[in-house]
Amino acid sequence: MYGKIKQYLSEELSQIESNGLLKRERIITTPQGANVQVSTGEDVVIMCANNYLGLSSHPDVVDAAKKALDTHGYGMSSVRFICGTQDIHKELERKIAAFYGTEDTILYAAAFDANGGVFEPLFSEQDAIISDELNHASIIDGVRLCKAARYRYKHSDMADLEKQLQDAQAQRFRIIVTDGVFSMDGDLAKMDEICALAEKYDALVMTDECHSAGFIGKTGRGVPEHFGVMDKVDIITGTLGKALGGAMGGYTTGKKEIIEMLRQRSRPYLFSNSLAPAIVGASIKVFDVLSSTTELRDKLEANTAYFKERIKAAGFDIKPGDSPIVPIMLYDAALSQEFANRLLNEGVYAIGFFYPVVAKGQARIRTQISAAHSIADLDKAIAAFIKVGKELKVIS
Ligand SMILES: *Cc1c(COP(=O)(O)O)cnc(C)c1O
Repeated sequence: MYGKIKQYLSEELSQIESNGLLKRERIITTPQGANVQVSTGEDVVIMCANNYLGLSSHPDVVDAAKKALDTHGYGMSSVRFICGTQDIHKELERKIAAFYGTEDTILYAAAFDANGGVFEPLFSEQDAIISDELNHASIIDGVRLCKAARYRYKHSDMADLEKQLQDAQAQRFRIIVTDGVFSMDGDLAKMDEICALAEKYDALVMTDECHSAGFIGKTGRGVPEHFGVMDKVDIITGTLGKALGGAMGGYTTGKKEIIEMLRQRSRPYLFSNSLAPAIVGASIKVFDVLSSTTELRDKLEANTAYFKERIKAAGFDIKPGDSPIVPIMLYDAALSQEFANRLLNEGVYAIGFFYPVVAKGQARIRTQISAAHSIADLDKAIAAFIKVGKELKVIS
């Protein structure tokens, strides 16, 4: 009986395509890294991966994954509370807590699950969740799954956050929720001001550190470290799928009663499979590396400064910010697509973002710098941006 919906879906898909919004996937035939090969044969420098620390194909990380395969097998075929908890799952949870200076950690199959499963076990209709309007989709979905009253404040607008906190004073518990780094602009949440307001209005603070864990802050502990408020944040969620090895997996870390309640009641934890041993083994290695040296985040910081300085000097308009996310503003959707296509011809892999991923009139190429980039890689990218920028009259 597939007839009617088939027709409906085909029409919807044609509509998406004719609006120029159909997402097409480029195929990569090599491991993720500073340089990859695409299916058409070109070698290109990657400027849009979340591989901030260059760990996605790092030999020590790959080696740790292989070792864990040998010692702990391929899969768990179980959720954690039945027979899916190995010694290495507990070890990784302890390492993540030690890294952040928190009391306990719970692992998930993805940060999407960590955010999807964090609110409902902790908050009820008596409580209030106060969320930045630009928070990640997984936070928005997690809030939807919870019966708490919802308050939304304008992006990083502390006066509006204060107003929402005042409006939420009748509720039993309050929590302010924010992305640590906002992925489209690369700007940091004002964590010091958020924590001060949380104290004034008796609220908890939760930050999603997916685009900051491992490299923002002097030792890479994330946005709370950058603002000197690590002890003031109650709940941190993060992903193992970006800077921290890039495979998959997520975590929530914080106060022990909170984590224990999540182990008892968080649905994506209770009803979804345990993280694969190879990922767990590799992630332990990642946290060992990050706990012993700041070399990678320091290199990333230097690379970001190098790239930004030259792109700015060439006359491009970039969003300011303290993260390795460098949005190069073009403002025009069609131009952003043409720009990205021409970059690929110059051996540079980057993607143009436009509405509805970013606001109307805010189209851009979002570049992301990696510690894996060599100066030669960055120079190649900069030269390509300048060449295409001149061709398309974005710069003179
Ligand atoms: C990528 C991302 C997620 C989802 O992480 P996964 O582990 O890939 O599910 C959640 N929150 C933010 C802010 C992200 O950038």
